[in-house]
Amino acid sequence: MVFKTPTTTDRFTVAAVAGVLAKPRFHAGPKPKGVDQRRFIIAHELGHVLLHPGIRQIDQVDIRQTRNFNHYQEPEELEANYFAAELLMPKAFFQNDAKGIEPSWAAIRTLAERYQTTQSATAIQYVHCTKEPVMLVASENGVRQWFVANDYARDFFLNDEERVHRYSCAHELLAEDKTQSRASDVPAGAWFDRFDPNGKECITEDAMRARGSPFVLSLLWVHDAI
Ligand SMILES: [Zn+2]
Repeated sequence: MVFKTPTTTDRFTVAAVAGVLAKPRFHAGPKPKGVDQRRFIIAHELGHVLLHPGIRQIDQVDIRQTRNFNHYQEPEELEANYFAAELLMPKAFFQNDAKGIEPSWAAIRTLAERYQTTQSATAIQYVHCTKEPVMLVASENGVRQWFVANDYARDFFLNDEERVHRYSCAHELLAEDKTQSRASDVPAGAWFDRFDPNGKECITEDAMRARGSPFVLSLLWVHDAI
């Protein structure tokens, strides 16, 4: 099979597919901003068509849903998001592109541009495809919402605190009204339960959020033996 990653925005194709999907089954939600969000939303709706016949054919997906990978949401919505991530970034190709790339939002953005999809979905696919021990943690207004970890990070458990620690980059973005941290060393205890927040063990965190948004995504990388 020959696979070609789309390199240009085909507005007509996107509009045509969206039109077919919208006709009998779907309501349009708030207008998505860019082609990356539109492609993800269309793929999400295709997921409902194929995975949930008869039960989830009227849908109103919005921007918040495109970045919601919380395992405690309605299972159909999570399945549609994972379907979209796999459709837009097939693991067979993505694994190769992600190989050897250190976790950072700069790297995620490069991959997201290549596959023309959202940064949050790209980060999820990266976590599942890399061999580095990483996890993605979402917080809103400084309160943890959900996380996704890969098998290499399975020995690390988030601490019981619901609020993000003041030593974390997630906290820094909200406190200082920034949209992007640098990938920095933070105490492992700022996130994980068996470490001291004032101890010497460190992990790398890179955090990002949209301007003005209370929603922060932290990429955590356990890069040293700690
Ligand atoms: Zn949906």
